[in-house]
Amino acid sequence: MHVQLLFPTKEIAEEYYRQLVYLACRTCYSEQKPEEIWQRIRDGKVRDEKMEQLITKVVQSGHHSTIEHIVFSFSISGVSRTLTHQLVRHRIGVAFDQQSQRYVQFKNTEDIFVEPDTIRENPEAHAVFEEIRKKSAEAYEKLIELGVPAEDARFLFPQAVTTNLIMTVNLRELIHICGLRLCTLAQWEIRRLFKKVRKEVMAVSPFFGRMLVPHCVHEGFCNELNNMDWHCKIRPPLHIAQEVFEKWRKGELVEREKSE
Ligand SMILES: Cc1cc2nc3c(=O)[nH]c(=O)nc-3n(C[C@H](O)[C@H](O)[C@H](O)COP(=O)(O)OP(=O)(O)OC[C@H]3O[C@@H](n4cnc5c(N)ncnc54)[C@H](O)[C@@H]3O)c2cc1C
Repeated sequence: MHVQLLFPTKEIAEEYYRQLVYLACRTCYSEQKPEEIWQRIRDGKVRDEKMEQLITKVVQSGHHSTIEHIVFSFSISGVSRTLTHQLVRHRIGVAFDQQSQRYVQFKNTEDIFVEPDTIRENPEAHAVFEEIRKKSAEAYEKLIELGVPAEDARFLFPQAVTTNLIMTVNLRELIHICGLRLCTLAQWEIRRLFKKVRKEVMAVSPFFGRMLVPHCVHEGFCNELNNMDWHCKIRPPLHIAQEVFEKWRKGELVEREKSE
């Protein structure tokens, strides 16, 4: 799997991204026209820390249209169709363009399958996977030889077959998608993708990169049913968070003295 942030570059992110989001936030609370605020920013009259403080406050308050003004474009290659089937379910604030299996006729079918570790590391399972991988690749090539169009020959490919795409997504939606897909219980391949996405964003903008976390981090509890035993420790499951709240409501939690 390869993930590369194509846009913005570090220079563009540093020069425009915080500034644009600050402009969006400030416009809402200022008598000044946006172009006047923008000029003050361009003239270096607004410190970076001031911009970050306002953006942080506004984002925490849920005023999220302000972070729709900046986008990130990624090149994603060597991922399975299993992954992209999940990825393209995201509909709002995100655009995808994916390699076509209708128009692209695969000539080298040797290296176009993603094999999960659980299969690769089990010799018997690996042998089963290899058999099907080879058979489906050979069958695809045979159908192409027989004159079957690529759009029909592709019906033989398993979901493991790789694909390439570009994804452009605004920050609001990127935070939302990362919230779901960086969860430790998310499916491994899409989680791996978004760990790489986060790393790419961190490289151009640590300020915005730090916003890309599992959604439980923002919410303070975990609503994943498979974490009722609290084996993922990032945040307590909802029932435990509720028990703590109930105890507090009943006055059972002793508050610490100020001197402690
Ligand atoms: C752990 C997990 C398991 C899943 N399992 C399954 C499964 O078994 N089967 C399956 O089919 N899918 C499954 N999905 C996919 C899931 O149902 C969503 O389709 C997917 O996560 C896209 O997210 P989203 O709906 O937030 O869409 P996005 O496009 O990312 O939407 C962003 C937000 O915009 C708002 N929004 C978007 N569209 C609308 C709308 N039409 N009306 C109102 N508000 C809207 C919502 O607030 C939404 O959260 C799973 C996802 C996860 C994370």
